[in-house]
Amino acid sequence: MAKTETFGDRCATCRKRPAVAAPVPAPGGCCEPCWRRALASPAESDRSEAARRPGAPAWALAALAADQSPLVRAEVALRPDLPDEIVAALADPDREPDRTVLRRMAKHPSLGAHAPRLAAVDDLVVHRQLAGNPSTPATVLAVLSRHTDAAVRQAARARLVGAALDDDGRSRLPVGVRAYLTAPLGRNPARNPRSPG
Ligand SMILES: [Zn+2]
Repeated sequence: MAKTETFGDRCATCRKRPAVAAPVPAPGGCCEPCWRRALASPAESDRSEAARRPGAPAWALAALAADQSPLVRAEVALRPDLPDEIVAALADPDREPDRTVLRRMAKHPSLGAHAPRLAAVDDLVVHRQLAGNPSTPATVLAVLSRHTDAAVRQAARARLVGAALDDDGRSRLPVGVRAYLTAPLGRNPARNPRSPG
């Protein structure tokens, strides 16, 4: 029989070539029956493992992001391929009760506009991740630049300086000024003026 009913990469889980209607989307991914089997499993470890598989279809990602187990959701939070509605849900402390999930979302590359909600969480690790996240907007960095924790403050301030100057503007600066602007704030007391007293 000609293999006209199969297509593309083998399923990384069952090793079958899936049907044309539901090809494995990426090498290392799995077929739809294997996704459904893993997501329906009562074992948390099966669902956690599925949350680490590449090439998850949208319906599987949505189900894993809504999983009752925080361990499964914490695996989802490490995936860079999350659509905005899942980022919004997992980065919302009103909807996501688990601290590990929130901490992981604070460094998510697609966090962006959802960073303000996380900034309101009273958790130093969340704030440190936000200060180091390239997607954190300047409005949130400005708040973090006044943080009581020195590491958060310095990371946020360094990022604000970088955000205010594009590469072109930076290259036009005199060398001394460039060095001044990129030095850590703590070693640059002139940028941190104290009132005389
Ligand atoms: Zn399979």
